[in-house]
Amino acid sequence: DYLLSINFQNITHPDDLTLDLQQLDSLAQGNIPFYQLEKRYLTASENYIWILLSVSLVREDNGDVKYYIAQIQSIDERKKMEMELKNQKEALHEANIILERMATEDTLTEIANRRKFMLWFESEMARLERHPVPISVALADIDFFKSYNDDYGHQEGDFALKSIAKKLSHTLRGQDKIARFGGEEFILLFLETDEKGCLLVCEKLRKSVESLSTLKRTVTISIGGVTYYPKEGVIVHFDDLLKVADSKLYEAKRSGRNQVKVVNLAVYQD
Ligand code: GH3
Ligand code: MG
Ligand code: MG
Repeated sequence: DYLLSINFQNITHPDDLTLDLQQLDSLAQGNIPFYQLEKRYLTASENYIWILLSVSLVREDNGDVKYYIAQIQSIDERKKMEMELKNQKEALHEANIILERMATEDTLTEIANRRKFMLWFESEMARLERHPVPISVALADIDFFKSYNDDYGHQEGDFALKSIAKKLSHTLRGQDKIARFGGEEFILLFLETDEKGCLLVCEKLRKSVESLSTLKRTVTISIGGVTYYPKEGVIVHFDDLLKVADSKLYEAKRSGRNQVKVVNLAVYQD
């Protein structure tokens, strides 16, 4: 009796009403022969349930609408399962983003980790095969960092590491890459950069750390870099570049620290 005393507008979810009315109008106009709609109805217990509505109509001889025929089927269970599945998919998607971050990011400094750097390096090497230009790789190591930890504690050391990582990242040019390579070492990849360019950008990085004023005392870094010019038929491995960059870093340390040494890989190859 109650249902007969009201109309479907009264029990249709407000968000579903416009579409239903539009479809109904198209049906009455003769634009469509029938329609189906998934929508929500308010039940007597005051909650919404999902239903599948199928509507057609019967006309008078003169074409006027005589009456509508509506069939309603509950699809509430299915809808709830679909929504549950959707929520689970979203949760999975978010978990995957976190996993991806954990796999490629260093937790302390929040810059890339070694694994991510290797992916960058491999993809850059593949690109060089089609588009041969020089690239440079550099290793930066914080000077006397053990004594910084000893003097101010490990927590201050961690703070310094984070600040230096941030400073280096912000000083880099957009196309260049940086990752935490280990303890207090960072590795850098400079795209389309020869020795001169490498020296320039490394000097800029070195100075940017030296000028950090938020640390307990001035902290410096030493950098060793190597430039590689792609040569046809020659395959260079990451370890070859790393070995040279590491030896240049050692040279920078030995020459008094807080400095940059860069070399062309060809010096070692010829
Ligand atoms: P050098 O100029 O020759 O590089 O001297 P150094 O003291 O920096 O080098 P050494 O290799 O003797 O010591 C590295 C120090 O870096 C020791 C270690 O406690 C510190 N270190 C490495 N990783 C971390 C870290 O995650 N947090 C903190 N606080 N310190 C770290
Ligand atoms: Mg070191
Ligand atoms: Mg060091």
